[in-house]
Amino acid sequence: MELYILYMDVRSLLHRYNQPVPRYTSYPTVPQWQDWPSAETEVTDQSGASEVLRWEAAVKQTFRLQNRPEGISLYVHLPYCEALCTYCGCNKKITTNHGVEVPYINAVLAEWAMYMALFPEKPIIRELHLGGGTPTFFSAENLKRLIKGILSGAELHPDFEFGFEGHPNNTSRAQLQTLFDQGFCRVSFGVQDLDPEVQRIINRIQPLENLVEVTKSAREIGYTSVNFDLIYGLPKQNSATLSSTIEKILDLRPDRIAFYSYAHVPWKSLGQRLYDEADLPSADEKMALYQQGRLAFLAAAYTEIGMDHFALTNDPLAEAARENRLHRNFMGYTTTKSHLLIGLGVSSISDAAIAYAQNTRELGHYLRKTSAGSWPHDKGYFLNREDQLNRRHILNLSCTGSTVLEHDFELTKVAKLFMTQLLADDLIHFDGKKLRITAAGKLFTRNICSLFDAHLWGSPQAEKRYSQAI
Ligand code: SF4
Repeated sequence: MELYILYMDVRSLLHRYNQPVPRYTSYPTVPQWQDWPSAETEVTDQSGASEVLRWEAAVKQTFRLQNRPEGISLYVHLPYCEALCTYCGCNKKITTNHGVEVPYINAVLAEWAMYMALFPEKPIIRELHLGGGTPTFFSAENLKRLIKGILSGAELHPDFEFGFEGHPNNTSRAQLQTLFDQGFCRVSFGVQDLDPEVQRIINRIQPLENLVEVTKSAREIGYTSVNFDLIYGLPKQNSATLSSTIEKILDLRPDRIAFYSYAHVPWKSLGQRLYDEADLPSADEKMALYQQGRLAFLAAAYTEIGMDHFALTNDPLAEAARENRLHRNFMGYTTTKSHLLIGLGVSSISDAAIAYAQNTRELGHYLRKTSAGSWPHDKGYFLNREDQLNRRHILNLSCTGSTVLEHDFELTKVAKLFMTQLLADDLIHFDGKKLRITAAGKLFTRNICSLFDAHLWGSPQAEKRYSQAI
C-alpha cells in the first residue's frame, strides 16, 4: 500500500513538472546564442573586435589560465552514418560512400591546426571524445590518422581519458584495438532498444548478438568502461518491451547506462515523420517507462548520477558523484573538469568558460570553410557576469545537488514563484543561503536547475506557465 501511495505521489509530481526544460549541457542554452556573421561578411562590434576575434581572445585567455595543470578537453564530431535511424535528432549525413572519410579528417585536422596556432605552448589533452554520427563509420586506419594528427603537437595529461561512441552493428575488433592502442579505454554503445518491433520502426535493426560481441571484445581488449545508451518513449515501446530490453542489457552489466528521453520533434527531425504519432507512448506511459527503467537500474545496484545517468557503484563516475567531483559539459557527465572544451567538426560546440561557439551544421559549408583556413563557427555567445553566476548554480545543482547563493543574489519574480512551488512539493530545501535538492527532488533536477535560467524566466511563455500554475 505504501509503495502504491509513493508511486501515485511521484506520478502526480511528474504530471506537474512535465514541462519542456533544457538538459543544461550549456548555460545559456543554444537557442539563446547569437548568429555570428560569416567571415565573408564579418562586421565589427562596438569594442572594435569581430565576434571571431573575441572568440579567439576568449580561447587564448582560458588556455593561458587552465592549460597547466588542468588540461583541455576535445570533442570531435564524426557525422557519417550508413543508414538513417528514424528517431535520430543528431546532426548526421547518411551515406555508404566511404570516400568521404579522408576529406573529412583533413578538415578536422585543419580546424585543429587553427586552434594550435592560438596556443603559446603545447596543449595538454585531458579528455578526448569521438561522437557522431557514427565514429565507427570510419576505418581503423583513418581513426588512427585522426588521433595521431590531433596528438602530434600535444602532450597528454597524466590522467587523460579518451572515449568514443560505437555502433554495435559496425564496431569491429580492429577499430576497438586501434583506438585502445591510441589511449582509449571508454566506449559507449548506442543500444536504444532491443525489441525487434521497436527496432524495425526506428530502422535500427541491431541483434542482441552484435551487442554481446562488441561488449565482449571491448572488455577482452582492456576497455575499463562500457556505457550503453537507452531511450525511453520510442514508438511501439511499452512496459513489456522495455522490461525485456532492460533484462538483457543488465545481463551484460555495463559500467554506465544513459537513459534518455525520446524527443519528438518531427518538424526538425524529418525521419520522425516516417512513423505515426499513434505509435508513440502517451505522456503518462512515457513517464511510467522512465520510472520503470530508473527503478530497475537502482534495484540492480546502479547509482543515479544527476540527470539521465546511472553507473555501477565502483565506477569512477559514481565515485566522483559521491565525492562531489562531478562535472557536466556537452559530452554529459564527466569526472574531469576542464574550463576549455574545444569541439571540432561540423556542428560541434566549444566552451571557453566565458564564451561558447558552435560550428556550422551544414557539412559542405564546414568543409569549404576549413579548407580555406577560416573558422567554421556560425553562432555563439559571450557570457556576462550574471550568466556566469547562473551557470555556476546550474552546474552545482546538476552535479552535486546543492548550491550556495551569494548574499545579493536575486531570483526573478516568476522564478521565486516557481521556487515556492518546489518548496511546497518538498523537492528542494532552502535555508536562506544554501539550496539543496531533496531525495524526492532528484527526479526533477532539470526543473530545479531552471530556477537559475534567467533567459527562460524572462520569456512570456514562462510568465504565463508558472504565474498561472501557482
Ligand atoms: S542514431 Fe546514430 S547511427 Fe542512427 S542516424 Fe542518428 S547518428 Fe546515425
